[in-house]
Amino acid sequence: MALVLGRIAETSPAGRRSRAQISALTGLTKASVSSLVLELISSGLVTEVGLNQQSRGRPGVELELNPNKAVLGAEINVDYLAVGVVSLAGTLLMHEVRERDNRSDGVERVIAALSQQCAVTAVAAEKEGIDVLGGGLAVPGLIDAAGQVVVSAPNLGWKNARPDLRVLLPGSPLGVVLCNEANAAALAEMDHQSDTDFMFVSGEVGVGGGLVVGRELFTGADGHAGEVGHVVVDPYGSDCLCGGRGCLETVAGQDAIADAAGLAGHPARSSRSLTLSVLLGLLKEGDARALSAVERAGFCLGLALASSARIVPFTLVVLGGHLAVLDPWLRISLMDSLQRYSAGKFPSGNVLVSALGSTGALLGAAGLALRSVLEAPHTLRR
Ligand SMILES: [Zn+2]
Repeated sequence: MALVLGRIAETSPAGRRSRAQISALTGLTKASVSSLVLELISSGLVTEVGLNQQSRGRPGVELELNPNKAVLGAEINVDYLAVGVVSLAGTLLMHEVRERDNRSDGVERVIAALSQQCAVTAVAAEKEGIDVLGGGLAVPGLIDAAGQVVVSAPNLGWKNARPDLRVLLPGSPLGVVLCNEANAAALAEMDHQSDTDFMFVSGEVGVGGGLVVGRELFTGADGHAGEVGHVVVDPYGSDCLCGGRGCLETVAGQDAIADAAGLAGHPARSSRSLTLSVLLGLLKEGDARALSAVERAGFCLGLALASSARIVPFTLVVLGGHLAVLDPWLRISLMDSLQRYSAGKFPSGNVLVSALGSTGALLGAAGLALRSVLEAPHTLRR
């Protein structure tokens, strides 16, 4: 079923396939393909469309992923909750971001607020005739390998938190999976990159990292690999929320940049988007303190990436979050330090800005749920 579903999923509306074509592509007999397609149709994952005149003039019904089935992507960040509905083909159909201070609230209350937002979105989807099968939740923290526990999310103040994921989509056949936001965004980025190995760097209050090796997310046995934000760039630097000192995050996290730019105590600091727009204003005016804060962040980012790339083989960097927004001002110092500490490994074309903007983590979290459908469609068998 997964093999047949995969051949249906990889097509675009312009190039849909018939049962005969799938039989030719998979090497399965036409009878086997027909019976598997019947199961996929009865489980609601696949629908038949139109007539296909390609096969020597004989009409054949084409197959596509059911446009009325979808998965939910959700994201908890320090200052917002986001929920989106993503079609089985990976298109973002609905997206709602609500600003909310999640730093000062406990796990239960944040999950309760998110569950209310998920319910509203699920109802809106239902009105459009869309049935949500399951979902993924991205959190800015370290997640255990089983995807159940937020081991540590220092910027949220969570430690060994076990969010009740069932309340997010009660009664959905697949439930909700938990993932790290930078890892989720790296997964979503994979669909837009031809390189098989890259590091996604997510700039938020902290700095997250998602390492992709051989087109697979590399998280290591404990699920914590790729945390470039906690590579030490200044052994005598500030204390980091992770318990370390002088981590990249203490220089290149959004709060750290804003402080260094002279915005500590600024009224705009109540909101992260406001802070970023004030910072951008200062950079455009050529404010020396702001320029120097961003340059230092770029230089230290290069240092951390160059050091990481000595151990794990990646030669492409994708910037997300505020690091993507600040790219025009930090690129020179970033490229300088990449060049200085890993000569020739990263030509300038190999540092890209995310194609997905602020939706990366949500799309990636939904993508995890999609993956579980595509890899094990029999779990939805009726
Ligand atoms: Zn740290």
